[in-house]
Amino acid sequence: MASPFPNLRVIDHPLIQHKLSHMRDKRTPPQVFRALLREIAMLMGFEVFRGLALAQERIETPLTAMQAPFVKGTKIAIVPILRAGTGMADGLLDLVPFADVGHIGLYRDKTTHRPVQYLVKLPPSDHGVYVVVDPMLATGHSAAKAVDVLLQHGVAKSSILFLALVAAPEGMRAFNERHADVPVFVAALDERLDERAYIIPGLGDAGDRLFGTP
Ligand code: URA
Repeated sequence: MASPFPNLRVIDHPLIQHKLSHMRDKRTPPQVFRALLREIAMLMGFEVFRGLALAQERIETPLTAMQAPFVKGTKIAIVPILRAGTGMADGLLDLVPFADVGHIGLYRDKTTHRPVQYLVKLPPSDHGVYVVVDPMLATGHSAAKAVDVLLQHGVAKSSILFLALVAAPEGMRAFNERHADVPVFVAALDERLDERAYIIPGLGDAGDRLFGTP
C-alpha cells in the first residue's frame, strides 16, 4: 500500500529499532536515554545526509595517486528545537562536526498545545542543508512552526530536512498541510496521540527523560 506520507522516511534498521525500544522502556535512566538518543541520531544521520555532494580531490595513498571523494562545498546547519532537540543534535554533530548550529526555542502551550516561540538564533541563510531536529513529532505544530521560522529567515525550502525519533500520524498530517515538500526522517511512526497530545506508545516526555526533570 502506498504511504499516506510520501515525504516520510522510516529508518527501520534493526540496531536503530533495538536502541529505540530501550529508550521507550520507562526503566531506562536519563544517562542511558541520552546516550541512546545521541547514538540513534548519529546512525540516522547516515540516511539524512545521503544526498550530500561529493567533490573529487587528488590525494596520494601510500601506493599511488588518486582522485578521492570528499564531502566539500555544502555548508550544513543543524537546528535543534529546544530543549529535547539538543540531544539529537549532539549525535548529528558527531557525524558532521564542521556543521553550524542554530537554535529554535518553542514551548507547547498546555491548553492549546500550540507552539509559542521564545528564542531564534540561526546561522546565515546561505547553507545548503538545514536539518531541523526534535525527537517527538507529536501534533506537528512545533515542527511546522520551526520550518516557518527558517523560511522567514530566508532559507530555501528545498534545503530543509526534518529529523525526529518518533512521529504520530496526526502530527504528520498537520505538518504536511503546510510542508509536504519537506522530507521527514523518523525511526518509528507510532499509533496515535492521546488526549494530552502525547504520542502512544511513544516514550513519554523526551525532554524530561533526557534531562531527568519531573
Ligand atoms: N513531546 C514529547 O516529549 N513526547 C510526546 O509524546 C509528545 C510531545
